[in-house]
Amino acid sequence: MELIEHSARDLLGLLDRGEITCEELTTAYLEAIRQRDTKVQAFVSVQAADALEQARRVDEKRRRGQPLGKLAGLPVAIKDVLCTQGVPTTCCSKILQNFIPPYDAHVIERLKQEDAVLIGKTNMDEFAMGSSTENSAFQITRNPWDLERTPGGSSGGSAAAVAACEVPLSIGSDTGGSIRQPASLCGIVGLKPTYGRVSRYGLVAFASSLDQVGPFGHEVYDVALLMEVIAGHDKRDSTSVPEPVPPYREKLEEPVRPLTIGVACEYFGEGLDAEVERAVREALEVYRRLGATVRDVSLPHSKYAVATYYIVATAEASSNLARYDGVHYGYRAKKFDNMIHMYSRTRGEGFGPEVKRRIMLGTYVLSRGYYEAYYLKALKVRRLIKEDFDKAFAECDVIAGPTSPTPAFKIGERVADPLAMYLSDIYTISCNLAGIAGISIPCGFTKSGLPIGLQLLAPPFAEEKLLRIARMYERETDWHQQRPRL
Ligand code: GLN
Repeated sequence: MELIEHSARDLLGLLDRGEITCEELTTAYLEAIRQRDTKVQAFVSVQAADALEQARRVDEKRRRGQPLGKLAGLPVAIKDVLCTQGVPTTCCSKILQNFIPPYDAHVIERLKQEDAVLIGKTNMDEFAMGSSTENSAFQITRNPWDLERTPGGSSGGSAAAVAACEVPLSIGSDTGGSIRQPASLCGIVGLKPTYGRVSRYGLVAFASSLDQVGPFGHEVYDVALLMEVIAGHDKRDSTSVPEPVPPYREKLEEPVRPLTIGVACEYFGEGLDAEVERAVREALEVYRRLGATVRDVSLPHSKYAVATYYIVATAEASSNLARYDGVHYGYRAKKFDNMIHMYSRTRGEGFGPEVKRRIMLGTYVLSRGYYEAYYLKALKVRRLIKEDFDKAFAECDVIAGPTSPTPAFKIGERVADPLAMYLSDIYTISCNLAGIAGISIPCGFTKSGLPIGLQLLAPPFAEEKLLRIARMYERETDWHQQRPRL
């Protein structure tokens, strides 16, 4: 295995034993980005000089025997939706193209406190709206396993960067599947934490009742490590919960026993690719072999999840995105006659088509006369979806199923059909509506060599157990050790 292909767990070992320096490691990843990212296009900006400086600082600390942070010397890439002080944060939108935040997001502060090396910002669907990263205003990210295909989205840049071994760890955000779906399509691990587990201070808001920040890595251990760093209470996000953060890695190798895995027939319906279904069913067999009970559970309101999500998420987005008015910050149209004209031209020129579609949908469902029929109704269905999970989790520890109904699709294949794109998240969206935790782990490949992901869903704040259950499967397989040839 090449140096850059190692998991974060292995790299920590190499650094600890002094077999490599942090500067060497950072240099190797910067070189990988230089060589590979012309093809993959995962990064929208690379902070090479800052990264090397930070790497040298960590090496120096180590030499002096000073205490080191949990991530000492590990490069991390950040989805361009998280504010980074002095470093452009664009959300891959024209409207924020020149925005340089004067502060760091909570997650960024935490990464810095633990001596991470922040190496660059990654491509995403504009304002995290999309499932293929094709809605970026800047570039199209390619799936490292097949450059003709998308890496998924909206955190496609962060997922592709790890899969392509341009960085060992990255951060994404997940409002309806944007961590789990690209993790699945890129053959890596991605975790959406419980709503309230990770502070969103400094995360550019899309749909505030759904948004969560979470980690990507090659292995469950890597994601557990990042969770130890980014999770935890922060009073600047009123939804962040003051629950202590468990040392997620401590019991990672301990199997959960007894273990009951729930399987919902609703997650094996129409539109599910046969190869994906086979891989997921084989994963269930692995759990059975490990002594787990696999039983049917029912999530009867799942069929309303996509519709409910596109009412709630667009309603919140239309409100959150009202702030881009050409006055506070961001892009302003060059030519206009009066103030109203300035607003409309700024927003007309600054936002891409998908974002405009969402703002219009959201404005519509909140408008007088339609509010009760759509928005209020959606909130009620959301409660029913949550109650389905409460009932199901009374009978099982986690719910298993496919993360995405299909493997990576071709670039351009779904851009003209928003509904087909929205259906990419059919299995991931309920988790956000219910506020629970979910992970995607590699569980196989199609005949043509595309990765397949297994999704495991767990009750609120059960991340420790979820990670252990994911690790039980990972230990039995070597999907997570495969790397694309680039
Ligand atoms: N694909 C979904 C959407 O377009 C989810 C995006 C996300 O999780 N940020 O809204």
